Amino acid sequence: MKNITIPTPVSLLLIAVLLSPVYLIAQPSLQKMFPVHFSEVTITDPFWKRKQEVVASTTINTCILYTETKTGRIRNFEKVVAKNGKHEGVYYDDSDVYKALEAMAYSLRNKPDKMLEAKADEWIEKIAAAQLPDGYLNTYYTLTALDKRWTDMERHEDYCAGHLIEAGIAYHETTGKSRLLDVAIRFANHIDSTFRLSKRNWVSGHQEIELALMKLYHHTNQKRYLDLAVWFLDQRGKGYGKGKIWDEWKDPDYCQDGIPVKQQTQITGHAVRAMYMYTGAADVAAVNNDSGYIKSMNSIWEDVVFRNMYITGGIGAQGTNEGFGADYELPNATAYCETCASVGMVFWNQRMNMLSGDSKFIDVLERSLYNAALDGLSQSGDRFFYGNPLASDRNHNRSEWFGTACCPSNIARLVASLGNYIYTTKGNDVWVNLFIGSNVSLPVGKSNMQLSMSTGLPWKGNTRLEVIQSGKQKVQLHLRVPGWLTEPVPGNLYSYIDTAAAKPVMTINGKAVAYNIERGYAIVDRIWKTGDVIEFNLPMQVRKIKSNQALKENRNRIALQYGPIVYCVEGKDNDDKAYNFIVPALTRFDVKYNNDILGGVNQITFEANLIQPASDGKSVLPVKKSITAIPYYSWNNRGAAEMQLWLPTSIGSIRIAP
Ligand SMILES: [Zn+2]
Repeated sequence: MKNITIPTPVSLLLIAVLLSPVYLIAQPSLQKMFPVHFSEVTITDPFWKRKQEVVASTTINTCILYTETKTGRIRNFEKVVAKNGKHEGVYYDDSDVYKALEAMAYSLRNKPDKMLEAKADEWIEKIAAAQLPDGYLNTYYTLTALDKRWTDMERHEDYCAGHLIEAGIAYHETTGKSRLLDVAIRFANHIDSTFRLSKRNWVSGHQEIELALMKLYHHTNQKRYLDLAVWFLDQRGKGYGKGKIWDEWKDPDYCQDGIPVKQQTQITGHAVRAMYMYTGAADVAAVNNDSGYIKSMNSIWEDVVFRNMYITGGIGAQGTNEGFGADYELPNATAYCETCASVGMVFWNQRMNMLSGDSKFIDVLERSLYNAALDGLSQSGDRFFYGNPLASDRNHNRSEWFGTACCPSNIARLVASLGNYIYTTKGNDVWVNLFIGSNVSLPVGKSNMQLSMSTGLPWKGNTRLEVIQSGKQKVQLHLRVPGWLTEPVPGNLYSYIDTAAAKPVMTINGKAVAYNIERGYAIVDRIWKTGDVIEFNLPMQVRKIKSNQALKENRNRIALQYGPIVYCVEGKDNDDKAYNFIVPALTRFDVKYNNDILGGVNQITFEANLIQPASDGKSVLPVKKSITAIPYYSWNNRGAAEMQLWLPTSIGSIRIAP
């Protein structure tokens, strides 16, 4: 190896400044709104604050335990430094270290913790020490065959780099320490030189670096990272991946590499890869005003939501490709619905909302967040689902960890950074997207507006916003009118059986006010003063949902929803059985909050017809029985149990003995 002088981060920056002819030139953005960083948002919400505390106290420690003790993920970095030892685990395992660090960074921002920060610093030193002089950093190749690096597009080197970049930025934002960020920048520059600047083709086998580079671009204002993100997207669909990430046996659409990204109109293949890539593409579109990406993604979004999404907001029905199958093929018991894919749905829909200003994307984000994603994390915080099926014969249970452990740290980083998804702003406009109790300082016009939100959601429909401080300027406030008031999801994949009052009631300082709804938001425009109180009451009742007939498994079945939460029946509440009843057509549903189970949840009770074999062994006897349903996300927190979400309404769809 040649003796290379390693430039310091500062000198690198200086060189970049001196050599780069193009700086970030502010362009008018297509973006309709901008996110409010979670560091400006203090979550006070009883529901979510508790989740964040569980992540901080338990989930992150579980990630640490498995990353450095119970598996060799940290040892791999130590071995690189020692130049001795065999790589442990799988070639993409470095990514879990970075994602855990990212979760730690967000959690430290919410709640400073000296010991946790010291642990992060310790890991960061090991990571930095394992970086090669040319910026390359990957323990798998460094410990196995360095001469083979960048020869196999499938081996996730760029995917690991993406997660390193995200972690570096998060840790820098939280602590002001740039050690990890500098490592990430050196690696990003190495990748840029190796591929884009050398005109060498490379199709990422697992997209993620695109969105990470966009974060790096925004964090550093260096255009080369935007260019590199665009370059990665542009590499796809040109055949460069043939024989590399796909071949005659593996469909190019599995890798979203069949056609160029801007020509894609349908969702295909691996769900997490697709979500990460479209998130990155949306980030690019927001900066480049590239309508090609937007057109493509609107079409893909409809394909996901209209034909390929579970009622939980989960996506990727098949385990074989960890991804999408044929339209309307959404089996329940074998639903794959990887937790990471739902996390990806949150990312992508947030970006689509900001590009369009349309609340329908938040409707989907909220559905994925409260149901399919949250299901991935146990109440205790130290058990996880990788897949999130909608029915189980007691055979699907939470795990402490996984061989491929992408999901635990992914749900941890999402929950810890939840404040990112509540508010958006632009100019003198403020949007409230999610109803989550929080205090926030929002940039509005030339000053700041401070709001305090409290809410009964997801259990009750009342939300209260108090203006803590406001400049003397008009502010247009947009409160999201949840789509679930009128339809479960856009499109006709699912629909309510019943009708119900749908319009929220708004009062300001106790007086009812009329409002207009635009793009799914209730709008009030006025000069706000300190102490103003807006109350926004969403009418909530149990809604029965039916599926499009094309979803064969759900024929003669209903699902129950109350507010943003989808419910399921678990054996634990029903004499160990969840498969032995049908829901009669005229059933009354009662909702009651129970603080004593599952950390406090609404339970829905109703009288069903219990179906038991008759003594003649030939016929069945219906017997009345009270059935209790719980939030889907909360199932399997009390041990193995039967569970189903789509409840039979006729004897033909029942299974007495699973
Ligand atoms: Zn995962």
